[in-house]
Amino acid sequence: MNKGVFHYDICIVGGGLAGLSLAALLSESGLSIAVVEPTPLPLNPVRPAKDDYALRISAINLASMRLFEHLGIKPALLDSRASGYQKMQIWDANSDAFIQFDANDIDSDQLGYIIENNIIINSIFDIIKANGNIIFHTDSLLDIEHKPDGIEIKLEKGRLHTQLLVGADGQFSKVRALAKIPTELGTFNQTALVCRIQTEQTHQQTAYQCFHHSGPIAYLPLMDGSSSIVWSCDTDKAAQLSQLDDKAFARAIQDALQSTLGAVKILGPRAAFPLAQQHASAYIDSRIALIGDAAHRTHPLAGLGANLGLQDAAVLAETLLQAGQQHRPMHSMATLRKYERTRKHQNALILDTMAAFKAGFASRSPGLTSLRAMALNSVNHSPILKTGITRLATGISGDLPKICQPLNF
Ligand SMILES: Cc1cc2nc3c(=O)[nH]c(=O)nc-3n(C[C@H](O)[C@H](O)[C@H](O)COP(=O)(O)OP(=O)(O)OC[C@H]3O[C@@H](n4cnc5c(N)ncnc54)[C@H](O)[C@@H]3O)c2cc1C
Repeated sequence: MNKGVFHYDICIVGGGLAGLSLAALLSESGLSIAVVEPTPLPLNPVRPAKDDYALRISAINLASMRLFEHLGIKPALLDSRASGYQKMQIWDANSDAFIQFDANDIDSDQLGYIIENNIIINSIFDIIKANGNIIFHTDSLLDIEHKPDGIEIKLEKGRLHTQLLVGADGQFSKVRALAKIPTELGTFNQTALVCRIQTEQTHQQTAYQCFHHSGPIAYLPLMDGSSSIVWSCDTDKAAQLSQLDDKAFARAIQDALQSTLGAVKILGPRAAFPLAQQHASAYIDSRIALIGDAAHRTHPLAGLGANLGLQDAAVLAETLLQAGQQHRPMHSMATLRKYERTRKHQNALILDTMAAFKAGFASRSPGLTSLRAMALNSVNHSPILKTGITRLATGISGDLPKICQPLNF
């Protein structure tokens, strides 16, 4: 054992939604866990002021909410302005295609919740900070070295030794790069513009998404009556929109949503996120597993990226805990392969579907425009199909980790 090197069973690199959720799910396992994250936790502001909404906001589906319920943070999220939405309307700006999803169709109170990422991260941190098995290193991963008895990890400020290394370090994952795991990268040549707005008419706890050839614009309903917009469009167009002053930008948003909620007022700063689809060719390597955006990244049009990462965390936690119960080494390739087999294929299906959806709406071909109108309208008028899709998208049915399943699943 090297002097000055901290030894752990599991080292999770990245304290975002995926990494922190995994740490929390393993917090009762008795395993010693390190979380390496350069940004000090809790994130600032710890308790955001009434009008101080963060720009990174996620639509959290019912499966992820059950994971949060399992962790015991659902009440804190609901208290911290998680905004439930009961309806979602999606339409095509270039045809009469329209579909509405309704929580009533799946006998649920909500279709999902709009929550600031920072609030989720701080709520998870709150419940695990006092757990003696989890140690936080405010640091960055620099390098790794495989040893006969584990992996030695070089951080900016120290060294760790671990039996298993989990890369939860996001789209530019250093763990993935050091493990030399290639990724398939598909660029959409799109950028998502994000900002908070007030609309003339109330959003009625409904999420709205209008598809243009250049990409979709979504209005996500917030608790205080304002909305968060995610406007994904071609990067040239996003650059032009970014140049507009608030008044002109508000007008552009209103036009893009075809005045559905009337006039728009900009309430805060804007941010731009370049979009790409990325899939790691493997989720595992010797003593290494990737979760969340480190393993996959998709277009935000279905609001799924964080939800998929949370399911990765749930499946990996369940797989490791089961290996422990059966006295099998949790870092063995057989254990890790079980995780990869469960998640990689499912994520690939969703990534492919999102890419096809995006390409389908981008097409200007009149044939394809009427085809997608026909498809969307037929689903809208078929209660069985619509309910099936809603159950899958919200995480009521499908191949879910146990932690994310409804009680009567
Ligand atoms: C505009 C937009 C809207 C979106 N909307 C939704 C939505 O509505 N619903 C949804 O489900 N998803 C949504 N997503 C996707 C979602 O935001 C991401 O999938 C999710 O945040 C990824 O979480 P993560 O924990 O995997 O990675 P990250 O959030 O990227 O966290 C990675 C962490 O790793 C740390 N890190 C990086 N490098 C190192 C290093 N070398 N050493 C140590 N730590 C390191 C970082 O500091 C970071 O904290 C959206 C994405 C965008 C861009």
